[in-house]
Amino acid sequence: MARDPRLFDASASLAERVTAAFSKDGPLAQAFPGFRPRGGQLGFALALAETLQKEGTLVAEAGTGTGKTFAYLTPALLSGLTVIISTGGKPLQDQLYKKDVPMLSRALGVHPKTAVLKGRANYVCLERLMHVAEDGVPLPERNSHAKLRKIVRFAQITKTGDRSELAEVPENDPLWPMVTSTRENCLGPDRCPHYGECFVKRARDEAQSAQIVIVNHHLYLSSVALKRENQGMDGMLPTADLTVFDEAHQLPAVATAFFGTRFSTYQVEDIAHEAEALGKSYAADGADWTKICGAVRKAVDELKLSCYAVGLTEGDRKAVETIERFGELAGPMATLLKAFAKLGDALKTNAGRRDEIDVLRAYHAEVLDEMDNWKHVATATKPPTASADTEAANAEIPASSPAVADLMTAAPSNAPQPTDKDREIAERLVKKNTPKGPAVRWVEVMKSGIRFNLTPLSFAGEFREMRKAEGGSWLFTSATLSTGGKAGAANTAADFGHYLREVGLSPEECRAEQWPSPFNYWEQGVFYLPDLPPPERNTIEHVERVVEAAWPLIVAAGGKTFFLCTSIAGMERAADLLEDKIKTNGLDYPLLVQNEMPRNALIEEFRRRGNAVLVGSMSFWEGVDVRGDALSLVVIDKIPFTPPDDPVTNARCEAIRASGKHPFFVHSVPEAVISLKQGAGRLIRSETDRGVFMLGDSRVLTKGYGKTVLASLPDFYKTRQLGKVLTFFADPERFREDLYC
Ligand code: SF4
Repeated sequence: MARDPRLFDASASLAERVTAAFSKDGPLAQAFPGFRPRGGQLGFALALAETLQKEGTLVAEAGTGTGKTFAYLTPALLSGLTVIISTGGKPLQDQLYKKDVPMLSRALGVHPKTAVLKGRANYVCLERLMHVAEDGVPLPERNSHAKLRKIVRFAQITKTGDRSELAEVPENDPLWPMVTSTRENCLGPDRCPHYGECFVKRARDEAQSAQIVIVNHHLYLSSVALKRENQGMDGMLPTADLTVFDEAHQLPAVATAFFGTRFSTYQVEDIAHEAEALGKSYAADGADWTKICGAVRKAVDELKLSCYAVGLTEGDRKAVETIERFGELAGPMATLLKAFAKLGDALKTNAGRRDEIDVLRAYHAEVLDEMDNWKHVATATKPPTASADTEAANAEIPASSPAVADLMTAAPSNAPQPTDKDREIAERLVKKNTPKGPAVRWVEVMKSGIRFNLTPLSFAGEFREMRKAEGGSWLFTSATLSTGGKAGAANTAADFGHYLREVGLSPEECRAEQWPSPFNYWEQGVFYLPDLPPPERNTIEHVERVVEAAWPLIVAAGGKTFFLCTSIAGMERAADLLEDKIKTNGLDYPLLVQNEMPRNALIEEFRRRGNAVLVGSMSFWEGVDVRGDALSLVVIDKIPFTPPDDPVTNARCEAIRASGKHPFFVHSVPEAVISLKQGAGRLIRSETDRGVFMLGDSRVLTKGYGKTVLASLPDFYKTRQLGKVLTFFADPERFREDLYC
């Protein structure tokens, strides 16, 4: 396709060139049949062009169907600048890399070098693959041998090693963890015989020299943290002129996890198990492995028993302050620290005897560091407060803890340029930080063990510092970032306050704007609010009522339903009831329930069956795109407020209260609204979709915050009458005519 000279006119501004690209006779109209200029899309693109010129920050909420990807990619590609695009997960990464960027580049006549960088578990590890294929390692399933042969063949011909290219071996196959690497088991540049051809290294090298790099939020944060930890040393990514966070609503959750630290009893047990196996095989004379590892296991058992003795039970997630006899864990924690440190000594004594022992030693040091964050537990008589606790934790930890510093002595300290090994070591160290600023210390009891967490109350400060150090322009975009208003609607204004606070932006330093969806929600959808009592604390009873209220709609829709719950218990009860109803009524709707198969497979099955009812919890509220007839009804049991006993939310609310603000309105309502918008957003995905959104929560009419909730949802036709909804399904034409009577 011939290049449009208007896009490369050196005398024209970026805004003028972007306008030409989106014009009726522009390259996009010529390249994409059905393309037509959309006001929201052009508005967004021009806002980004202006942001780039000022090296500013744009926060852009773009409704479903706005065409937000092309809106930001067009100015980004025409600018010729280096751009990092960070997404919430793999599906969007793949879509951008395989489809959107190449398609749009061709249409615009530009040829940027583009790279995608995923987490290391996405790439075949040649070292581990050879080990599994050649050393007769037992395989998990009967047909694993055939699949292993496919992976070996794939590794010989692939350029990227990206396992998503090998569709014949499903994403969730138990073979994958055996032939991919983790930070903990990668041998790294000095020890790995395959390092020269390593797919992870290759992907990182590609990213370093690319103009457009597509990553995910976690990798982005890791790379920038790496740079900051090691001044002068590159991260995994190039320095960007523009950093784009797409699916930016997911950034706060990812960043909270990233800036927090944690260790678990099962990690410690795993290390002890691995150390015993490796020690006995390769360094039998180097230590009494049975005794040392046995002591670690015994200490773990004692700590677990003590946790149960102070009243913790499976499923608990409790802040330390709320565990009355928390001080009783002091002895068992001290014993575990001592036993685990002794294991570290044994690994150190045997360093250099076998690569796997050295790799395990690095992992051990990392976990020991995390455990060190809990050292004060061994001496505390009273549980500390959240903020005092952080100070105590920070005070106790030397700038570089002994375990890690010990490992670092092997690294060249005065090398002029960072080597791959430097990067490898630095990558291991990134996560050793304790959160800066107030944090909440909490304990989580799972079937597999007990996890000790230290989670920051806010990552805004650290994130602000990161942005300052990185420089350039910034874009945060998603369909759900604000509360309280729809662009273009009368008497409402979008409120970005909550999101800006979360990511550490002040309204003065950014432009925050909303571009509406081009869909005609009024005609395409109905918001049905059944006459139900407000949800009580008893989730199960409420879910039972919601199922009853939703059932006539499910029948009218012919299945084709997402039934989404705010709790696992509610989801299970809803699934049981719906299964009964489907059977009793002799209907053939396939019932698909979360966790019955992997999420993507479940969604694929839902699309394929065409009349299914899918019951899920929060993980189905976002990132699910079912266009067309297969999805005609979305039911949500209630407004998704975070459970009142969540330790992180509680600590955040306390901090907000201490600052004189009302946590419910400043934190809980915006969080719930953004989440509800995501859930409701599953329904209408194209200009021809039609459907009903039912919310089983009458508090939107009885509580003060209800107005904010209603104002944030798409502009559906709203009704409390079942008859209207049934007409919507049975007689669309009549329903449409009635709308305008
Ligand atoms: S460097 Fe690490 S990821 Fe790469 S092949 Fe070696 S062990 Fe595997």
